[in-house]
Amino acid sequence: MFVITGPSGVGKGTLIRALCDRIPALQISVSATTRQPRPGERDGVSYHFLSQAEFDRRIADGDFVEWAEYSGNRYGTLRSELDRRLRERVPVVLEIEVQGARQVREKMPEAVQVFIAPPSADALRTRLIGRGTDPPEQVQRRLQTATAELEAQPEFTHVIVNDRLDDAIEALVAVVEDELSPA
Ligand code: 5GP
Repeated sequence: MFVITGPSGVGKGTLIRALCDRIPALQISVSATTRQPRPGERDGVSYHFLSQAEFDRRIADGDFVEWAEYSGNRYGTLRSELDRRLRERVPVVLEIEVQGARQVREKMPEAVQVFIAPPSADALRTRLIGRGTDPPEQVQRRLQTATAELEAQPEFTHVIVNDRLDDAIEALVAVVEDELSPA
């Protein structure tokens, strides 16, 4: 299992798409969230979009491997996304924020954890604003959270700086190929 984490706007999604193009055996875990879908996002593909009540019920039923509150919404990894794949030894990729990555580290220390870092805090700000997916108050909130997330960097075995996209893709592919290759 591969956990890809790092602040919002750092390019995790782009890197993971490129990674899966290069290593088609990888499967992406579709997270659950209480956030509203953005234009173009599809239920069951981008996320499993759940109501607050449904998310509460799934927590009570023990359906989550990890979950966290992030920027006013809740996000979580469903056991159902992982169980069969891990049983069949299909490599799975999780794209999650830092609190969730910590929970996975506790429960599944064998998971490979990769932190994607921006070249600088300023670069992250520019990207998060330029991405245009979030309203201004969300961008502010996400930037505040990013400061704390960046401090978590030393906890991670692998840190990849997403400066030049092609270099970051190569670095991520190298980490994953190395883990997947028989010892
Ligand atoms: P966004 O709203 O931009 O899609 O996601 C916000 C943050 O939540 C991102 O950092 C994303 O990686 C993270 N996230 C997405 N799915 C999960 C999940 O299942 N668990 C946790 N802990 N974080 C998630």
